[in-house]
Amino acid sequence: MTTLDRDVVIIGAGPSGLTAAYELRKAGKTVAVLEARDRVGGRTWSQNMDGATIEIGGQWISPDQTGLYSLIEELGIETFERYKEGKSVYIAEDGTRTVYEGEDFPVGEATIAEMNKLIAEMDRLTAEVNPDAPWEHPQAAELDMVSFHHWLRTISNDEAACNNIGLFIAGGMLTKPAHTFSALQALLMSSSAGSFSNLVDEDFILDRRMVGTMQGVSIAVAKRLGEDVYLNNPVLKLDWSEEGVTAYGAGVTVNAKKVVIAVPPNLYSRISYNPPLPRRQHVTHQHQSMGLVIKVHAVYSTPFWREEGLSGTCFGPNSIVQEVYDNTYHGESTGTLVGFISDVNADAMFELSEAERKETILKGIAEFLGDKALTPEVFYLSDFGSEEWTRGAYATSYDLGGLFRFGPDQNKNVGPIYFSSSDLAGEGYQHVDGAVRMGRRTAARIVAAVDG
Ligand code: FAD
Repeated sequence: MTTLDRDVVIIGAGPSGLTAAYELRKAGKTVAVLEARDRVGGRTWSQNMDGATIEIGGQWISPDQTGLYSLIEELGIETFERYKEGKSVYIAEDGTRTVYEGEDFPVGEATIAEMNKLIAEMDRLTAEVNPDAPWEHPQAAELDMVSFHHWLRTISNDEAACNNIGLFIAGGMLTKPAHTFSALQALLMSSSAGSFSNLVDEDFILDRRMVGTMQGVSIAVAKRLGEDVYLNNPVLKLDWSEEGVTAYGAGVTVNAKKVVIAVPPNLYSRISYNPPLPRRQHVTHQHQSMGLVIKVHAVYSTPFWREEGLSGTCFGPNSIVQEVYDNTYHGESTGTLVGFISDVNADAMFELSEAERKETILKGIAEFLGDKALTPEVFYLSDFGSEEWTRGAYATSYDLGGLFRFGPDQNKNVGPIYFSSSDLAGEGYQHVDGAVRMGRRTAARIVAAVDG
């Protein structure tokens, strides 16, 4: 067992922990990062499969994500645009398949008008919400009392419109059914992206990707931290007092003045705190839970949909695979599709045998893009729900009423213990951008506390 003395120990080498460590180092502090896995990057993770680059976790960056943009500029990392040329495909609730152009789903004028009404109402309220403190909105208590599903139906009685708009936040972002989180939580999600219109515009929110993959950002930061990143060191025990902390990794113990816990909030209770955390944190942490989504990749010898004038972008609010995009990595001649299977649909897929699961999912993609989709060369399902150090995807959110009740305390430090996660961010919430912003903010708070 190695014992180290540092100014700050950071638990978790995802983008938030690594950014915090990097900023602390730049401010002249000594750091050690203890990471449970045998790799850095956390929920960003890429692998090469039969020659295709697959991003299993986070990958896209949008124009408003200036926290992450400034970090990659510093690291010398470039971005490339997602393939967006051509028409999209929509499968309606009755199973009708339509190829369409433009931003509006092909759902009939009345439903489009209702969707636009819902978008306008979301935009109006979003403009009033401070992403760093959504609980301060004058109607926050009421908005946190009602599920997003029911709130949408107080504004429109068009079921298709409510389902389509619900999908953008439920299946599309929080990866939970729309009846399990509040309208306030939905507004936090949209305010974190600047507006609801930004969030529903896939060309905005899924704009560009990293050359070298999103995990490459964490790898680049870890490289700058050098030997101060300790892999295979899950921290399960933390002693703390006002004077400092001792974090116990599997092979490394670190004594430090402060600790940054940069793991997702659903994993805070994996660590045994001595003395225990205060009541408020004990209770708060039980109300933040992970969503669940399967990110599926299918790689083909060519991007056959492009030859048919299709962009690869597909939506089906009632389909098993609710969203599909062209996810071909830049410079590769093969064609890669990515699809998302959220919450209860993901549950259903995991009930099937591996062979049935593959067949059902590929049939779901083929309903959008034709039978050529049935025979990929590579087929890969992400399964972050089975990963001990994540336990779901993409991120955590509060249960009904939790954001208003517990949100104001989520970013408070407990003596020397600071929490940093994309899931606690305002701008960039649930995204790598939020992880970076939180890492920087936490580092600045610690520097101010240590240096006075
Ligand atoms: P994490 O990335 O979860 O890192 C936490 C780290 O802590 C992990 O490395 C973990 O192993 C480690 N850890 C946990 N417990 C312990 C312990 N006890 N001791 C030591 N180490 C521990 N974001 C985007 O911006 N764009 C996207 O396109 C996008 N798509 C996504 C797709 C998927 C499938 C998933 C899962 C996420 C996606 N995200 C996306 C979200 C993004 O990946 C996360 O917001 C981001 O990775 C969070 O960073 P973090 O550092 O806060 O947490």
